[in-house]
Amino acid sequence: MPNLKEKIQTISSELKQQLAHLSQEKELEALRLSFIGKKGAITELLGELKNLTIEEKKEFGPLIQALRQEAEDGIAARKKFITEQQSQAADNQARHFDVTSYVPNAPTGHLHPYTLFIEEIQRIFLSMGYEIWDGPEFETEFNNFTALNIPKDHPARDMYDTFWTDQEGYLLRTHTSPVQARILQQRTPPLAGIAPGRTYRHEAVDASHDFMFMQCEGLLVDKNVTVAHLFATAQTFLRALFQKNTLDIRIRPGFFPFVEPGFEIDMRCIFCKSGCSVCKQSTWIEIFPGGLVHPNVFKACNIDATQYSGLAFGFGLTRLAMLRYGIDDIRLFHSGKLKFLEQF
Ligand SMILES: [Zn+2]
Repeated sequence: MPNLKEKIQTISSELKQQLAHLSQEKELEALRLSFIGKKGAITELLGELKNLTIEEKKEFGPLIQALRQEAEDGIAARKKFITEQQSQAADNQARHFDVTSYVPNAPTGHLHPYTLFIEEIQRIFLSMGYEIWDGPEFETEFNNFTALNIPKDHPARDMYDTFWTDQEGYLLRTHTSPVQARILQQRTPPLAGIAPGRTYRHEAVDASHDFMFMQCEGLLVDKNVTVAHLFATAQTFLRALFQKNTLDIRIRPGFFPFVEPGFEIDMRCIFCKSGCSVCKQSTWIEIFPGGLVHPNVFKACNIDATQYSGLAFGFGLTRLAMLRYGIDDIRLFHSGKLKFLEQF
């Protein structure tokens, strides 16, 4: 009965072909019914067995049974494959991470106002050709005082309430000026740079005083440096910082041991036209001291004062930052109060 043999082969190859393309359990169930269900093709073949002769039954019986087994095994294997595929897809879905997705109100960190302010100042001075210098906060008495024309027992040392240390000759720097002394001892002019950093004074803490404060030192040394350079530098810096095209400044005489002549530099009040509490009704705000480097400083640092002259200035970063951001309490800067910090 060659017809039956062909039929078995056709069903077998159809079964394989259809199984290979199935990807849904629903389709798999339909396939199961069409092959080995009550009216399935293989079930019908088995039904036809009873019409055959004994010889034919011996020949085709096992073949049809084998075909049925093949269908059952194939369907089970395909079912396992489909389940695995589905769980893999679910897994991928869970792992999928969209970097462009937007999460509203996600909290982000930001830089401290001091850092932002120092970066702003550095940008301005870098644009003017200055370098950025750094120095230690634990400093020698020589760099902090002696090299800056403040010898031992000089009354000017009383201007600084110093934190002395157990180690003789060492202190917490009272200003950033020792960076000047270090640079002058190490380098040959021409040179120009600023040195922002922490300084320490033994002071009682209140709304406008703190024992630690940020200062910034500025130094420019070359041949023929004059007061005009100092004036122009201060004005250019302040105009850039307060973003004003015109901002008048004035200089008054002032005494600082490391400069001669020394000046107090003031700028027009940026908050009023006729007097306010910030400028104490004067319309001028005291900004920073500066002057021409004292020949004794050059001498202490082995620079020839007959060849070179220089300008130096130093300002409290905190005070300037308070003016820039309109802050009225110095303690807020390192209070750690998030309500304050989050405004920047
Ligand atoms: Zn004012």
